[in-house]
Amino acid sequence: MTENLKYRFIQRDEASKSLESLIDSNNLEKSILYSVTSFDPSRITECPRRIIYVVNGVVSPSHYKSYLEIMDRVFSKQKWMEIFSKSKGIKVVEKNVVSADCHYNISGNIDAILNMGGKLYVLKTQRIDAEQFSQIESKGAFKKHVIELMIYLWLTEVNDGMLLYDNVNQYRVFHIKYYSPVIQSITSKCLKLIDYKMKGEIPDRPYKNEKSLECVQCEFRKTCWREK
Ligand code: SF4
Repeated sequence: MTENLKYRFIQRDEASKSLESLIDSNNLEKSILYSVTSFDPSRITECPRRIIYVVNGVVSPSHYKSYLEIMDRVFSKQKWMEIFSKSKGIKVVEKNVVSADCHYNISGNIDAILNMGGKLYVLKTQRIDAEQFSQIESKGAFKKHVIELMIYLWLTEVNDGMLLYDNVNQYRVFHIKYYSPVIQSITSKCLKLIDYKMKGEIPDRPYKNEKSLECVQCEFRKTCWREK
């Protein structure tokens, strides 16, 4: 039987229900994919409690980035894709590659895979402001960005990555190489997080008080420190 929804071109009919039954019949083990929102590589270095709040869908108004900020990042990525597409000596093999691992419940998006001189590189661009740019100039790449790219190297089985920082007219590139001990610690963190999620528990706070740097920057600060 067909259920007509608001628009005639959107229906819950025999075809859509057959697809659901097909998914049900193949989903014998009730994989974690269906019960846990996946972990985002760009947030994996954060406090475990904060990550669980994210996958639990605890909403914090401060979490939402402004429209302008989002568009700025989109334009930055597009700009680099255009530059690389026209550059001699670089071939954009794939753009916007979704990569994931179901066992560790992690998934994200790579900007591109590049071929330079016959060698493949995963590209991740990061739009940063002037202050952050001077930080990378003096201290090097941010740890969270390096780990994020490392996760993509693991997911794609490409050994080399290019981390491209973009601040308007300035840019810096860091070559990141796959390093398995980093991935071992990330996968073990993912398994612990899955365990918390499956048990419906929230990890303890790793900080003594809410004045720690991560808590000050955390969008769940109020919720977190109000709870026992
Ligand atoms: S407020 Fe601090 S302890 Fe609580 S989730 Fe955020 S970072 Fe973790």
